[in-house]
Order: sequence, then structure tokens, then C-alpha cells
Amino acid sequence: MADKYLELVNSGLTKKLATSLGLPRPSILRRYAPGEALLPGPVLLLGDSSSAQQLADTLLGWGLDVRRHAVGVNRLGGIVLMLDELEAPAELSAPMLAAGAALRQLAPGGRVVSLSREALDTDAPAVAAVRQGIDGAMRSVGRELRGGATANGIVLGHGVSPSAPSALAALHFFFSGRSAYVDGQFLSVDSADGTLPADFSQPLAGKVAVVTGAARGIGAAIAQTLHRDGATVVVVDVPGAGDALAKVANKVSGTALQVDVTRPDAGAKIIEHAVARHGSLDIVIHNAGITRDKLLANMDARRWDSVIAVNISSQLAMNEAFLAAELPGLRIVSLASTSGIAGNRGQTNYAASKGGVIGMVRASAASFAAAGGGINAVAPGFIETEMTAKIPVATRTVARMLMPSLMQGGLPVDVAEAIGFLASDAAAGINGRTLRVCGQSLVGA
Ligand code: NAD
Repeated sequence: MADKYLELVNSGLTKKLATSLGLPRPSILRRYAPGEALLPGPVLLLGDSSSAQQLADTLLGWGLDVRRHAVGVNRLGGIVLMLDELEAPAELSAPMLAAGAALRQLAPGGRVVSLSREALDTDAPAVAAVRQGIDGAMRSVGRELRGGATANGIVLGHGVSPSAPSALAALHFFFSGRSAYVDGQFLSVDSADGTLPADFSQPLAGKVAVVTGAARGIGAAIAQTLHRDGATVVVVDVPGAGDALAKVANKVSGTALQVDVTRPDAGAKIIEHAVARHGSLDIVIHNAGITRDKLLANMDARRWDSVIAVNISSQLAMNEAFLAAELPGLRIVSLASTSGIAGNRGQTNYAASKGGVIGMVRASAASFAAAGGGINAVAPGFIETEMTAKIPVATRTVARMLMPSLMQGGLPVDVAEAIGFLASDAAAGINGRTLRVCGQSLVGA
């Protein structure tokens, strides 16, 4: 499963050889470890926004060294572009060129993050043009960065301030190693809802979280990450995976519930277990999923129907049960896939189910918000798991090299970190959205 090429080009003699041969050299990504600095150097704050000073004060409060000029700084940890008050494309020139002039100073694992406003159909054309233009520009910056550095953006909804809790929480997430494999993406903040955690290393303290499909792979990583961040975790999987599930439950000091998520009473069983054993149900992660790949020309009803039943119909039914139970503040994060966005040969059934998840979270956002909660999705790209280990080794290596920005697959923990962020109360201003965790690539299951 391990990416041997990544290890070789980053160690000893083989690193020198790869450099002298001019071979592509993917970097070891800066991943989160509790207690580590938020950024690998000072942060450069660019843009004339009237909120710039307030943001600078917040960043200082996070212990960052904030600069308004890059002169004399050897290694920048991050660059923030405040673009929220731009009104015409010509105004992009000054902040973008200032960022460009500082890019060579960006440390490995550095971060470029923009703050801008949503382009609305009712905007004046020039306003919509600059706002939409930022999208293209930032995705292009992502493709130009090296050394595991990333570029992402925060898009503020109408009337939402750059200091709204979820805007600040999104900025913190993008800075931190938690977003290592999120690149060229945007998080939209729709409201001023949410509260920043008292302690950014324990954002889920006191929460009870359920993770389906948690006996292995990404689900097991999610359970561990939520536990690390302070949640009490209930892990769910099919009875056939009982032994592996019990091991994960032990590891996270949580409890196990054996239930097939396609059972009509799965939602009721989950609520009953969480409330009876732990007193509440605050977070649900719909992770259980299967693939049954075949070209559509060879597809049979068994393959098609089972994928739809596990990956989307079960979630729709469980969500109805959760809404009917009126669980206050329930936050849901669902697993989509880049296949549901870009399509993938041999995966019409899977892509229908995962595109379905994206539609479902959009259409469910208002209902969950009415109960003080929210629902979002994460769309992983190529993640190194047992699922993707089945791909022949040569195809896998080439697929990694073709990923234009980070040149490697992601790890289950990368998906888990994005889910942990969206499950937290700090993300309450983000609702009905899908965040890609794909290293700016659309390859994957
Ligand atoms: P995996 O096959 O390793 O694990 C899936 C888990 O779900 C297993 O433990 C399985 O027993 C469980 N499960 C399956 N059907 C179930 C059911 N009916 N009820 C309860 N549990 C059930 O898969 P993974 O790679 O860890 O993927 C996890 C999720 O992430 C899936 O939704 C998958 O579609 C999605 N995803 C994975 C990738 C990737 O690259 N691995 C990419 C995009 C999306």
C-alpha cells in the first residue's frame, strides 16, 4: 500500500540520484501532529481589506508572526490574500503580484489562502467577474506550488464577515497540517453560525460521534481522529466485520455496534445505542461504502442496486430517522468521491451513488440547520487503502505521478482530518457543501 517511490526520492542516496536525473520528486506532506506549530514560518497578510487589521490581531492571538511585507523574511509559512472587497478584475493585480513575488520564499508545506466573496447572479458583471476570477487564479496557484505547499480559498456568503467563526476556523484548518491533502479547493461560509473551540487541539471535546464502516480503512482512521480530537466514538460495521470492529472500538476507547446500514432500522439502532450508552448523539459520519465496478454495458442489477443501497439509500433513510428524533445540533458528514464529480470508467453505479451524496447534502442542509445542526460531504480522490491497493502497481505509480500538484495519493488520515473539521461546531457556518480531499486531482474511487 505504501508509496515506495515517495519514500525513495526523499531518502539518502536515492534522493540525490532522483534529483540529478531530474525525476519528479513528490514531497512528504506536512501532516498534523498535536503540539506542532500551526505554520512553518511567519505569515504574510496581503490586501487592502478593511478587515485586515482585525484578522492580523486574530493571527497574532494564534501565536503567528504576522507580516505585511515579505522583505527580509527567509522562509514564509503562509500567505493570506484578503480579496473580499474587490469590485473589478483590474484590482486583482496588486495582491496577486505581491503574492507571486513572495512565492519563492514559501517554506515546504507552506500555505496560500485567499478570502473572497461568493459570485452571485445578481452581482454587477464586473463584481461577479473578479469574484469568479479568484477561483481560477487560486486553483492555478495550487498547480504551481511545490514542496507539499498548497493553495486554497475561503468564500464568504453575502453579509458574512471575514471574522465569522467558520471563516476563521476554515483558515485555521487550511494553515494546519490537518489539510495536508486538500489543495486547490474552496470552503464556502454561508453564515456567522459556529463557535471557535476553546482548545484547537480538542475541537470535539464532549461530543458523541458515530462512524459507519469503521472496521477498517478510512472509517477506522476517522474513528481514531475523532477520538484524538476529544469525541467519544461509536464504531459501526456489518456483523461479518465484528472482530476488526471490536479492535477499532478498543483502540479508540469507544463502543461497537454491529449493524448493516441498509437495514430499515439502522438509524433507530444507532440513536438507541449512542443515547443509551453515551447520553447523546452529536455527530454522524456516513462512511460505509462499497464498489462493484463494471462497464455499464456489462452491469447487472445486483451490482448496481447494492452500491446504490449501501452508498446513498441507506444514508437517506438514516437521515430521516435522525431528523425525526430531533437530535439537537446534530452534525453529519457524508463520504462522496471525486468519481461522483468527474466520473470514472467502470463506476457508473458508484458515481451515481457518490454524486447522489453531493445532491443529498445540498438538499438536506436547511432541515438539519433548523435543528441547530448541519450536513456536509467530503469527496476523497485517490486514497491509499485496501480498496485502491487492488489497482495494479504500475497503474498506481503512474496515477500518482499524473496528479499535477502533490504527485501522490492521500492517506486515510487526510480524509479523516477534513471530516473532523466539518463535524466540529466551529464549522457550523458551512452547510450543504462538499469539500474535495484529492491533492487537486480528480483520479480515484
Ligand atoms: P473499505 O472497503 O476499506 O471500508 C469500507 C467499510 O464499510 C468496511 O469495513 C465495510 O465492512 C463497511 N461496510 C460496507 N457495507 C456496509 C454496510 N452495509 N453496513 C455497514 N458497514 C458496511 O473502504 P474505504 O476505502 O475505507 O472507503 C471508505 C469510504 O470512502 C467509502 O464510502 C468509499 O466509497 C469512500 N471513498 C474511498 C476512496 C479511496 O480512495 N479509498 C475514495 C473516495 C471515496
